[in-house]
Amino acid sequence: MKITFPAFLLGLVPVANAFVVPQQRRSVQKANFDAAVVDTTFLNRPAALSVTKLSAVVAPIDTKEFVQAKQVFPDAMTNDELIEFMTTTLRANGYDERKTLIATSLCCDEVNRPLENALSNTFDTNFNMGGLAGFPFGGATSFGAMASHIPDGGSCAVIYGPHVGIDSKGNVGTVERRGRKSGGACCGSAVAASGYVAGVLGGEEKASLPTSPLDAQQYFVGSMLMPFAERLESAEDRMKELPYALYDAQSDLMKRILAQSGSSVAGDGTTAVLGGIQINTPPGFTDYFLPLSFDLYNSDGKMVKKLLKTDVKPFPKVQDTFPGALTNDELVDKITAALKAKGYDETKTLVATSLCCDEVNRPLETELSEAFDTNFNMGGLAGFPFGGATSFGAMASHIPDGGDCVVVYGPHVGVSATGAVGTTERRGRVNGGACCGSAVAASGYVGGVFSGNDKEAEFPDDPLDAQQYFVGSMLMPYAERLERADDKMVELPYALYDAQSDLMQKIISKSAGAVGGDGKIAVLGGVQINTPPGYTDYYLPISFDLYDNKGALVDKIDL
Ligand SMILES: [Zn+2]
Ligand SMILES: [Zn+2]
Repeated sequence: MKITFPAFLLGLVPVANAFVVPQQRRSVQKANFDAAVVDTTFLNRPAALSVTKLSAVVAPIDTKEFVQAKQVFPDAMTNDELIEFMTTTLRANGYDERKTLIATSLCCDEVNRPLENALSNTFDTNFNMGGLAGFPFGGATSFGAMASHIPDGGSCAVIYGPHVGIDSKGNVGTVERRGRKSGGACCGSAVAASGYVAGVLGGEEKASLPTSPLDAQQYFVGSMLMPFAERLESAEDRMKELPYALYDAQSDLMKRILAQSGSSVAGDGTTAVLGGIQINTPPGFTDYFLPLSFDLYNSDGKMVKKLLKTDVKPFPKVQDTFPGALTNDELVDKITAALKAKGYDETKTLVATSLCCDEVNRPLETELSEAFDTNFNMGGLAGFPFGGATSFGAMASHIPDGGDCVVVYGPHVGVSATGAVGTTERRGRVNGGACCGSAVAASGYVGGVFSGNDKEAEFPDDPLDAQQYFVGSMLMPYAERLERADDKMVELPYALYDAQSDLMQKIISKSAGAVGGDGKIAVLGGVQINTPPGYTDYYLPISFDLYDNKGALVDKIDL
């Protein structure tokens, strides 16, 4: 359903001005504006001057790189790089700059205008949804108004995010400012809110809900930052964590705005939403932007595509413990190439996974789905194929006509930021805990039984907790091997892999016949390795076998 906005909102510009050529865009550089070196005569020229002509008469936008920004935020892009990245990505998704309306939600602070100026040079002037600290305080109404200004047949792109300064000494949360001896906080609103939430966490009274707009925005910056008070308190560097917390708070508000007003985009128009952290630098240097998400929404306000690959940063500690492990990206590339060489056609391939319930295991499934369409899920606790022979048969009967299937299975194990195995940091939690939890619990159980301290659990006659019983009983044959291992937590996934391979073999022997025609069954087994948030996961391939639909092993596949 399209949301209708009152007529007065649909044109924020009075009707009388609707046919006037827009004000000239000034592609002005950053805050170190120096009248002596800038030719300002363009300000008096006829309004119809094109942007290309304008750029010839103004001083260039600061492009000098500021190394400290990359030291603190290694994946940050310069404003120029960001716009290049945006335009290429948007064009690849059917955008035409001439029919694209850019909306920004960046903090009031004048240090944030150079990014808007640079955007305007590519996409024409920006709609401004933002307020203090970069929150989209224009809200659902501002999005609806913006949507109703999109050129006919066009689309919109929203860019939002908090900002943070880095000064020439590398300090985070402050920056030198034009003509001032002391730069001060940057972002000031964010730093004030961070002080406020720390006070409340320490027992001070919460501010009361505002009844007038006099200072309502700052109240909301504080209240929306409140859920992140403890995270800020426990951060190694509070000033560096602050923009990430604000980004999370703003993403939440932006999603709610899209849920309410996303459908006000007309026709087949889409909404691309780029969120991240804007990084301000001292006068004379380019600013930076660290993209954290870039999502495409359809005109029903539904997210349809992720345009930014997140969590692709390598985590070298994985290879110290599991040499030969591949990043998810590398793995999926290798699987696709290897299967193609065996006559697979990805449009006719069904991928089945058997990976643990744990949410940290979904990114691999998402990547596999991008290559082969959505996955059939055979897996349960610890990654055992608990869907069993029946689930394999069902999966086989879903294979596109004339196609084949590939099964990816395995236990998982976390590696933490310190390199500890069997645990990993988890999103928004101070303590990560066991990973895989089911496996670690089963390992404790078999250890207890093996040492004679505990009795064997009874065979379950109820599904209430049957899976965990079977994880334990299938791990039991490996009890001695685990006890003798140098590092039980490293040995555990290998033991589970052996137990799971056994079950997978039995399933294939029983259900291979359900694959139609001369369809093939490729089975990849290994160990999935989870890493702290922000890093790519890994997978250590151990076996990759090709079966025919009689369950006979016909080939070993090299990755
Ligand atoms: Zn600010
Ligand atoms: Zn698990």
